Amino acid sequence: MEEWRRILAESVVKPKDLADRLGVDPKEIESIVGEYPMRITPTVMATIKEVGDPIWRQVVPDPAEAEDADAEDDPLEEDTMSPVPHLVHRYPDRALLMVTNQCPIYCRFCTRKRLVGKPGFLKKGELDRAIAYLREHTEVRDVILSGGDPLLLPDHLLERILKSLRSIPHLELIRIGSRVPGSLPQRITPNLCEIVKKYHPVYMNLHFNHPDELTPEVKAACGMLADAGIPLGAQTVLLKGVNDDPEVMTRLMHQLLLARVKPYYLYQADLTKGTNHFRTTVETGMNIIRELQGHTSGMAVPHFVIDAPGGGGKIPVLPPDYLVHLDEDGAVLKNYENKTFYYPQPQNGHSRELPMVGAQPSLSACGDGGFNDL
Ligand SMILES: *Cc1c(COP(=O)(O)O)cnc(C)c1O
Repeated sequence: MEEWRRILAESVVKPKDLADRLGVDPKEIESIVGEYPMRITPTVMATIKEVGDPIWRQVVPDPAEAEDADAEDDPLEEDTMSPVPHLVHRYPDRALLMVTNQCPIYCRFCTRKRLVGKPGFLKKGELDRAIAYLREHTEVRDVILSGGDPLLLPDHLLERILKSLRSIPHLELIRIGSRVPGSLPQRITPNLCEIVKKYHPVYMNLHFNHPDELTPEVKAACGMLADAGIPLGAQTVLLKGVNDDPEVMTRLMHQLLLARVKPYYLYQADLTKGTNHFRTTVETGMNIIRELQGHTSGMAVPHFVIDAPGGGGKIPVLPPDYLVHLDEDGAVLKNYENKTFYYPQPQNGHSRELPMVGAQPSLSACGDGGFNDL
């Protein structure tokens, strides 16, 4: 058995295994684990410092999960946007393929709580149907492998999927979404990197929610992926009691960049049944963005998005303060220090509107000139 499989098999999955370790009464969580499985890898167990801390809250079942009866199982309406099993086609030029329901850890706030934990990977016939759909839909240029966690597939199955996707001529990008590097770093092997490398451009978006997740082992796993030429992004879920604090979020973003991972999305928590105790206000997220933007590296600032209930997709939300006023004359802007600036619009008859052949745009039309302090 490969080492990472042996380590995964040592994960905590039964309530009684938690009894004397994390201050949990097994009886209190037995019925929850029956409905929504638990798995905590040794790496994540070792990161928990105390009962109720930000890592604990993400992985230890909470009786509150059962007190969410009115919420919906699938608020993003993924199931209704699925033309063939395991494929979600919501946006014009990209599609999401769920290749397994297995994850290294079962996040208590998971959007796909309705699906995860069931054994098994995408079957050959199911893959063939998904590939046939994508081959027919020439508008799809970007496919995201998701799940569950695609990196829990054995190497040969992952390779089969990558290879089939690369047989589609119009497919440009392959993306993989994974929490494996942060929770089962032993899975990131030289062999895995060699496989992925053959199918570039392959991007990965890694799930991280708290700076304590970036242990030296985890950073080394990210480094191996980066060395394999895989651009790494991070997806973070805004979670009450985990990272709903600008100071924690700033540390997370800095740790990600140190691990060669570029923050991509910060998600407002979804309305999924069994997860509503993790929700924060929208202002909490806007405030975090406000405290990052301009105060630290622009590279550290993710897009804050709300995945709209009812299947509207991801909608970006910016703090409303930056653009104070906009009309045909110009824009009144506020910077991170709350200072006001004015950017004049190009006027009719300006050279930028009617460029002459061979003419260079003037400096003020380049976008970074022309700012005046009001
Ligand atoms: C998030 C998501 C995508 C990818 O969205 P990007 O904004 O391109 O990262 C594609 N399909 C579905 C169903 C998604 O939820």
